[in-house]
Amino acid sequence: MRLLPLGIKGLPTGKSLLKRLGRSVLNWLVPPSCISCGEDIASQGGILCGACFAGLRFVHAPFCDACALPITYDDVAERGYLCLECEFHPPLWHRGRAAFLYEGQARRLIMGLKYGDRTEHAAILARFMAQAGQDILKPDALLVPVPVHRWRLWQRGYNQAALMAKILSRNTGVACCLDGLYRRSRTAALAGLSRQGRRKQVAGTIDIQPRHGDTLRGKSVILVDDILTTGATAEACAKALLENGCVSVDILVGARVTLS
Ligand SMILES: [Zn+2]
Ligand SMILES: [Zn+2]
Repeated sequence: MRLLPLGIKGLPTGKSLLKRLGRSVLNWLVPPSCISCGEDIASQGGILCGACFAGLRFVHAPFCDACALPITYDDVAERGYLCLECEFHPPLWHRGRAAFLYEGQARRLIMGLKYGDRTEHAAILARFMAQAGQDILKPDALLVPVPVHRWRLWQRGYNQAALMAKILSRNTGVACCLDGLYRRSRTAALAGLSRQGRRKQVAGTIDIQPRHGDTLRGKSVILVDDILTTGATAEACAKALLENGCVSVDILVGARVTLS
C-alpha cells in the first residue's frame, strides 16, 4: 500500500473527492449522453459524441474580421481581412466572430435551440463562442443579446440569444445586459429577401430599453445572436446602440450563414 502525504498540491481534497464521488454516482444513475443525439458517451467524456462533434464545421482563419465569413489567403493578400461585401459596404459594427458555419451539426444544434425547446444547446454553443470570441471578449465589454419580439418570446418561452449571452457572461466574466435592446414591432420573415430588402424590413424596429440607457452609455458592446445571415438585424441593433452612446459594437454568433 502506498502512503500518500497529505496537503500536497494536486491530491484530492475532501471536497473534490466528494465531488468526484458524486459525479460517479450520478454517471451510474444517469449515464452521460451526447447533448445532441442522446448517444451514450460514458467512455468518451465531453458533451457531444464523436460523430456529432465531427459534424461541426468550425470557422477557421482566415475569415472576414467584420462578418466572420471564411476568406482565402489570396483575399487577405489583396485587401486584408475583409470579405468583398464588408470592404464595399462596411457594416456599422466593428468586428464579427462566429464559432461555426451554419450547416451540419451546428445547424441542428441551433434549430433545436430555436424551435425544439432544446435550451441545453445554448451551453454548448456558448462554450465554443467563448473560444471564437476570445480576442473581443474584453473584461470591460458588455454582452447584449439580439432581442426577439415579445410575441415570439411568448410563443417560444425564451430568447435563445439571451440564454447564450447569459452563459457566455457566466463563463467569461464579461458583464451582460439581457434586455438592453427590444423590438418595437414584429419583423416579417426575412428569409428569401435580399440584403437590401432585409435591411429595409428591419430598419428602425429595434431600440434600446430607455431604462438601460445609463448602463449602455460609453460601453463597448458585444452583440450576441445565434446566427449571422446578411447582418440586417445586427445593423439595426448596432445603429440603436451607437446612437445611444455606446462607443463600439462587435458581434459574436453561434454560426455564420454562408449564402451560396
Ligand atoms: Zn451525438
Ligand atoms: Zn465580411
